[in-house]
Amino acid sequence: MTKQIAIVVPCYNEEAVLKETMRRLNHELTSLKDAGKITRDSRVYFVDDGSHDKTWGIINEFVQTGAPAIGIKLSRNRGHQNALLAGLWIAKGDAVITIDADLQDDVAAIGKMIDEFDCGSDVVYGIRDSRETDTVFKRLTAHTFYKLLTTCGIETVYDHADYRLLSRRAVEALKEFREVNLYLRGIVPLIGFKSSSVKYDRAKRFAGETKYPLRKMVTLALEAITSLSVAPLRLISAFGFLLSAASFAITFWAIGVRLFTNEAIPGWASTVLPIYFLGGLQLLSLGVIGEYVGKIYLESKSRPRFIVEAVSELRESSRLK
Ligand code: UDP
Ligand code: MG
Repeated sequence: MTKQIAIVVPCYNEEAVLKETMRRLNHELTSLKDAGKITRDSRVYFVDDGSHDKTWGIINEFVQTGAPAIGIKLSRNRGHQNALLAGLWIAKGDAVITIDADLQDDVAAIGKMIDEFDCGSDVVYGIRDSRETDTVFKRLTAHTFYKLLTTCGIETVYDHADYRLLSRRAVEALKEFREVNLYLRGIVPLIGFKSSSVKYDRAKRFAGETKYPLRKMVTLALEAITSLSVAPLRLISAFGFLLSAASFAITFWAIGVRLFTNEAIPGWASTVLPIYFLGGLQLLSLGVIGEYVGKIYLESKSRPRFIVEAVSELRESSRLK
């Protein structure tokens, strides 16, 4: 049976690539429609995440000229994850595929994802086959990130970004996760259902520049860990336990030396250094606890993840030709 598919594309200042993105997606969707795999009302949802350039104008142009596109404009920049959520929440279809605007994700994998979906998968992960086009730095940070997540007991799919297909029921299940700060790569594996993956070659950014500088990557990593795991808190407890055990041992040893020999243990270093060490450790621990307290504070307000300012849609003509 043919399926209605929605493609969600988050866009932040992507004026340099959007036309090519639309062209390739349109081409791909049209051939899938011709092959009888998807229905004519399958569409591309462009989510403008508060861009400052001509992104929204270009999206509107697609809609007005009858391209199979719908524009969603957020009231301000809310970040990649929230832009994805806005698209997932609004998009209509039997399955929703999320893909970056910069054409790093190969659109040819869309057909393979739909095949997997047809075979009964509710979640289909796009996995990068090679990272040759990424810089050494990007590869290294990504590797460290995955290692860190695994160490914290967070289930993630290696080398999978946010290029994935979710069936209608997977999207509905996702909506049940009510935390404000949703980190999709961590949450999607928790949904369950049958999942599979398709491989694709990750290309270089077609044009424009990355919206993920190191600062944002570190924030994302911290967000991911603190919102999905309490491992850092356990680490503090473990440290506390080890240090207490060690200081007990040292205390008994010092008392022993004093009682059973004629010496006492001299020196200021043994007094001063532990004070610095413990002071540092305590501040660090407070910082980690603070992260979680901050999370509770932000979550308790349950502010909206995104606010939609406008939706651009032509009902009649925006169907696949
Ligand atoms: N993006 C977004 N909001 C942001 C930052 C990025 O919607 O605040 C979009 C961006 O337009 C792109 C996707 O998220 O479609 C991934 O961003 P980018 O390609 O810059 O990240 P990278 O591939 O370098 O990790
Ligand atoms: Mg990119």
